[in-house]
Amino acid sequence: MAIILKGAEVAEQLNSSTIQRVEKLKEKGVSPCLAIVRVGDSPEDLAYAKSAQKRCQQNGVEVMSFALPVTAEQDELMKIIEKINTSRVIHGCLLLRPLPKHFDDEAIRNALSPEKDIDGITDVSLAGVFSGANRGYPPCTAAACIEILKHYGVELKGKRAVVVGRSLVIGKPVAMLLLGENATVTICHTKTQNLPEVCRNAQVLIAAAGRAGIIGRGFFAPDQVVIDVGINVDENGKLCGDADFEAALELVGAITPVPGGVGTVTTSVLVEHVVSAAEKSVGM
Ligand code: NAP
Repeated sequence: MAIILKGAEVAEQLNSSTIQRVEKLKEKGVSPCLAIVRVGDSPEDLAYAKSAQKRCQQNGVEVMSFALPVTAEQDELMKIIEKINTSRVIHGCLLLRPLPKHFDDEAIRNALSPEKDIDGITDVSLAGVFSGANRGYPPCTAAACIEILKHYGVELKGKRAVVVGRSLVIGKPVAMLLLGENATVTICHTKTQNLPEVCRNAQVLIAAAGRAGIIGRGFFAPDQVVIDVGINVDENGKLCGDADFEAALELVGAITPVPGGVGTVTTSVLVEHVVSAAEKSVGM
C-alpha cells in the first residue's frame, strides 16, 4: 500500500515559518501585502482567489483584490498592473490566468515588475528558473512539487524523474527545478511515444497533463513516488488528479492525493514568496 503524501503537513510547516517572518516584518512596520488580479468570474479563478486569500489571512498577509469584467480591455488591465508596480504597500501580485482570449498574455505578464512577480509569470523570473540563478520566484505550483518531495525526504540526486506536461506554468519549470536538484529529467507531452513505458521507468513521476486518470496502471512501478498536479473533474463530477489513485495505491511507493496534495501546498508557497518579496523590499 502506497504512502499518501498529504499536502497539509507540508503546508503547516511552511506556514509556521512564514508566520514568524511576518511578525518580524511587522515589528519593522512592514505589512506584507498580496494583490490578486482577476478578469471575469470563472469558477476556477474564484476558487483559487478564495483559497489564496484564506491562506494569506492565516499567515497575517494582507490582500488587495482587483477584479475586471470578462469584457474589459487590455489597457484597463495594464493600468492595474502599473498601479501594482508603483504601489509602495503591495509586495506581490497573483494574476489569475489564463486570461480571456482577447488579451495579449505575453504583454500583460511581462508588464509586471519582476520584484513583484511572486508566481513566476514574467520571462525574467522564468529565465532565473532556467539559468538556476535563483533570482526571482519560480511558479508556485512547480515550487510546491519540490517542497513536497523535500518535506517527505525523497532523494532526487541522480534519480530518474519524468514530468508529464510541458507548460510554462508547471511542466517546464518543475523539470528545471528537478534538474537543479540533480535529478535526471525527462519531459513528456502529447507527442511522446511509449508514454506508459517512459513513466514506468521513473523513480519520481510528476503528472501535470490536466487529463483525469490518464496516468493509469501501466504507468506505475514499485517504489515510485508520484506527484499528481492535475486538477480535473471526473465523470461523476468529483475532483480528481491525472493519476488513477486507486491503482497507484496498490502499485507505487508514495503518491499525493487530489484534493489535499499539491494544491494545498501551492497557496503556502505563494504566501512565502510574498513575505520574501516584502523582506527584500526593506533589505532583509
Ligand atoms: P496545460 O497548459 O493544458 O498543459 C498540459 C500539458 O500536458 C501539455 O504540455 C500537454 O502536451 C500535456 N498533455 C496533455 N495531455 C497529455 C497526454 N494525454 N499525454 C501526454 N501529455 C499530455 O495545463 P497546465 O496549466 O500545465 O496544468 C496542468 C494541470 O495542473 C491541470 O489539471 C491544472 O488544473 C493543474 N494545476 C494544478 C495546480 C495546483 O496547484 N495543484 C495549479 C495549476 C494547475 P502538449 O504540449 O503536447 O499539448
